[in-house]
Amino acid sequence: MSPSTPVSALTIAGSDSGGGAGIQADLKAFAAHRVHGLSAITALTAQHTRGVTAVHVPPLEFLRAQIDACFDDFDIHAVKLGMLANAEVIHLVADALEQRRPPQIVIDPVMVATSGAKLLEDSALRAMRERLLPLATLLTPNTPEAELLLGRSINNADDAEDAAAALLDMGAGAVLLKGGHLLEGSRVIDRYFDGVSREEFSHVRLPVDAHGTGCTLASAIAAQLCCGLSLANACEAAIDYVARGLQGGYHPGRSEVMVLDHF
Ligand code: PLP
Repeated sequence: MSPSTPVSALTIAGSDSGGGAGIQADLKAFAAHRVHGLSAITALTAQHTRGVTAVHVPPLEFLRAQIDACFDDFDIHAVKLGMLANAEVIHLVADALEQRRPPQIVIDPVMVATSGAKLLEDSALRAMRERLLPLATLLTPNTPEAELLLGRSINNADDAEDAAAALLDMGAGAVLLKGGHLLEGSRVIDRYFDGVSREEFSHVRLPVDAHGTGCTLASAIAAQLCCGLSLANACEAAIDYVARGLQGGYHPGRSEVMVLDHF
């Protein structure tokens, strides 16, 4: 590799035909960090800014072929996981990652889109807990996702602290519990915990209805890890990246839903 060749990151996630979330957001975030983006598509969604109209999960062998094609030719510095659709996909992805052992794995445990569309079957929760959490360098749930993974509700700051610690006990190497769904005044507090250090990243809550923020955040973290930042610093930088993307965000469709600016 020449000194100017960017390092590579792989996203294993769903495609959003509307270009705001999923693989499309991931690749834009990688490119904005000058990381070469690879993709293995778990599911195709027919989607626009008003919602998801159809989902197609390609055959498992085809997903494995995409993952193998990436690992057979590229030095992959980080893998980001997004929409995984069902338990079979989770088992396949876990098998592949256990064999290929990439140095860092950022898992966005995507379950339900902001529009309300289900992006993971209920029966897949157990596979996510048992197969994926132990592989995570970092897990980036929002509070509804953390509630489903833990089977308990998160209503305040103390619950959020406990939840981050409990997710670590389930096997994740570190957790960034996003606070966007918790009402804690006018600011949003994202909580980072890796078993040793705890950090709180607080930012202004923007009064916008945005699409693709979770995908972008996890991809920006993976990209920052590729660039050599520590986990906590990568989280802080990526939170700032999403905030800037929201400030410059735009409405590409017919609804009020905004997508992030990556440029
Ligand atoms: N569509 C796909 C393919 C995704 O991977 C995601 C990621 O979370 C979403 C939609 C949901 O995006 P949001 O909840 O930000 O609307």
